[in-house]
Amino acid sequence: MDIYGCLRLTCLRRVSTPCVSLLKGLTIPKPAVSNRDDSLFIGDWSLKNITNLARILRCFHVVSGLKFNFIKLKVFGIGVDQLEVCRLAAPLGCAPSSLPFFYLGVLIEENMNRKKAWKPIVDKCRSKLSIWKAKSSYGGGGGGAEKAAVHWVSWDRLKAPKDVGGAGLGSLRNLNLALLAKWWWKYKTSPQSFWARIIRGIHNHSNRPWYCFSKRNSSGVWSGIDRVKNGLWKLHMEATDILYSNDGGNTWRSEFVVDGVFNVAKLRCRLDKASHPISDGDFWWLNSAPKKVVSFIWRAKQGRIPSAKALQRRNIPVSSIICDWCRNNEETVNHILTSCSLARDIINMVFNWCGLPAIQFTEVNEVLAFAQNWGHCPKKKELLSCVVYGTLLSLWKDRND
Ligand SMILES: [Zn+2]
Repeated sequence: MDIYGCLRLTCLRRVSTPCVSLLKGLTIPKPAVSNRDDSLFIGDWSLKNITNLARILRCFHVVSGLKFNFIKLKVFGIGVDQLEVCRLAAPLGCAPSSLPFFYLGVLIEENMNRKKAWKPIVDKCRSKLSIWKAKSSYGGGGGGAEKAAVHWVSWDRLKAPKDVGGAGLGSLRNLNLALLAKWWWKYKTSPQSFWARIIRGIHNHSNRPWYCFSKRNSSGVWSGIDRVKNGLWKLHMEATDILYSNDGGNTWRSEFVVDGVFNVAKLRCRLDKASHPISDGDFWWLNSAPKKVVSFIWRAKQGRIPSAKALQRRNIPVSSIICDWCRNNEETVNHILTSCSLARDIINMVFNWCGLPAIQFTEVNEVLAFAQNWGHCPKKKELLSCVVYGTLLSLWKDRND
């Protein structure tokens, strides 16, 4: 049993026999917010509560063998004098602390409308991205050029959904729109809830179109929720594409509701597609091949790898744009990976090994499409695609070694 189960038992007791209540706090499904090695307990400020919590933790230790290090635990008092915090923390051997503090990398009790409050999160993302970049970027022929920060793939293409040829990273703006639009659905489907009545009382939506959620010229969260429709208009979508009612507002429907819950991911995907209306054709993001290999092939398919020709086009000095191997043609991505005599020989040898006839490809697209559409067995298509992805990457690496 984890600490959740331990606390839940305590809470269940409270429901059946209120006199043995050990921990007084908010009645929420989970009295503790827990991560793998970070837990947060929220409760009433009283000596009894805090000593009972310490007892529960000790019982948990006896039962599970997992020990809480009390010296590392911190006690925070909300609306409580700091001296009082020290007074209750001391007998337990915990350290008194004060707000704001970091929990799972986020500053608690900070005003998130301030730019400064987001800095730790931005820094964290930046460090994660630099690790990712180091892992997935390639040197090779354009090694020097890569270091000189050439942007081989546009940010728009990275954000675009995978089924229109993007990398499927998704747009944060669209995620925000989708999260805000979920409030439309929540508000419309629970009009009698306490919070909805308060919002109605403050913003008075009568005599206004159904998709107006805040009073004119107001600021704050509900004006943001109101402005979702402007975001939709920019993507050539209407409010009714998200939510509609066929009976004058009694019942509300949405194609983004799955099993009774509004699915933010589904709406985000739709918004991402609306932001990128042009499709570059399908690309198979094979799960069975390493991500590094697949992302290289994705770039190669679009001609976004540092071939001599591509470098020249980006005004990066190259000694010659003629292929080093055959000295016959310009060194383009398609030439290196398919039409060069070296590439043809290797692809034919690999195809021969797979029991396939020799085929003369001239474009990366062709060889990918061939593998993807070969035969009738999905497993074989996947295997052949894996082999082709690996062959093309090896060819590229070998030429650049
Ligand atoms: Zn060549």
